[in-house]
Amino acid sequence: MQDNKKAIGYYIGHIVDQDIRYRASSGGIGTAIVKYLFSFPEYKTSVTFYFDEENCRYIPKLIYQASDINICGSIYQDIDLVGFIRQHLSEISGGIVLTCLPCQVNAIRALLEKHNIPNFIISFVCSGQTTLEGTYCYYRFLGIKKENIKKMQYRGNGWPSGIQIFLKDGTEINRDNYSEPWSLIHRSVLFRPKRCFFCKKDTSYASDISLADPWLDEYIAHDKIGNTMFLVNTNLGQRILLDMSSKNIINTVRSSWELYCKAQAPNVNKEIYVYNKQNFLRMEQKIVENRIYHRVFSLTPFNMKIHLYLMRILDKIYMKRYE
Ligand SMILES: Cc1cc2nc3c(=O)[nH]c(=O)nc-3n(C[C@H](O)[C@H](O)[C@H](O)COP(=O)(O)OP(=O)(O)OC[C@H]3O[C@@H](n4cnc5c(N)ncnc54)[C@H](O)[C@@H]3O)c2cc1C
Ligand code: SF4
Repeated sequence: MQDNKKAIGYYIGHIVDQDIRYRASSGGIGTAIVKYLFSFPEYKTSVTFYFDEENCRYIPKLIYQASDINICGSIYQDIDLVGFIRQHLSEISGGIVLTCLPCQVNAIRALLEKHNIPNFIISFVCSGQTTLEGTYCYYRFLGIKKENIKKMQYRGNGWPSGIQIFLKDGTEINRDNYSEPWSLIHRSVLFRPKRCFFCKKDTSYASDISLADPWLDEYIAHDKIGNTMFLVNTNLGQRILLDMSSKNIINTVRSSWELYCKAQAPNVNKEIYVYNKQNFLRMEQKIVENRIYHRVFSLTPFNMKIHLYLMRILDKIYMKRYE
């Protein structure tokens, strides 16, 4: 387990604006911070993501005012945000507030500081990303053609919500969070970026704030709009959070390291998991990287289940060999 002193504070809360709270992934704390920082002259730039209908994917975009924030929930589609920031450095005006994956925080922070750009970085507690091809596989399993899709979201519009697909003919498809076949695709790791196999980070403590879902019984049972569990990692993050609370922009209660561990057990235990399973993970990653294997076992949900069965056997063999 990670050291509980890594975060300055643990909280659960939501933005007071009920519309944003509903449209955001969890409780809208991420959107609230971006919106709030835009009200200061120091922060003139942020990054939002919009759905590119033609290429059927999310694309990052620099924005310069709060009204351009596209509230679309978490994007479970791997995006090279470090490359994007590098390419658009000259278009950043003043300071920047942005969200990125834990594995992108250090590189983005270093890039911005090298160019003397003030920054506020929001990250996530992360269980792993999925490549864009994983989403394309999802459409295929549902029998949907990409060219018929007008828009899609992975999260947002209630909690915990799930994947929403809007077709050009007006049909709307809604699937619960982490339901099949997304869960199968995720568990198969056939569309997992290589770096995620060996990732030990629950979050990045170098970010100012880390966002997560409060996967705790009371929220799972009663919360239908959303709350965010979040970690404050820096003094700047703490100051902004207190300001927002005192101005009644967000409602928060103190949480704890213990509740964080309960809500985020698989992520908090990543380090131990990767350490214990390193030989299996190395082999699994090599297998799924094989193009023929990948193609065959991602052809249908049935093939994918066979792949999972094979990986379970492999895991047992490795456990016996290395125990
Ligand atoms: C790949 C991934 C894995 C995650 N894994 C977990 C997990 O295992 N457990 C857990 O509890 N929470 C996880 N989260 C976080 C969770 O899904 C919510 O994003 C979080 O609770 C924030 O909620 P919010 O309502 O406060 O954020 P919002 O108010 O919705 O703001 C979130 C902000 O993040 C931006 N954003 C969304 N996706 C991305 C992305 N891929 N890259 C950069 N910026 C992005 C949005 O544009 C928005 O500005 C994950 C998020 C991602 C993107
Ligand atoms: S699991 Fe680790 S490597 Fe993968 S996206 Fe999350 S932080 Fe990055």
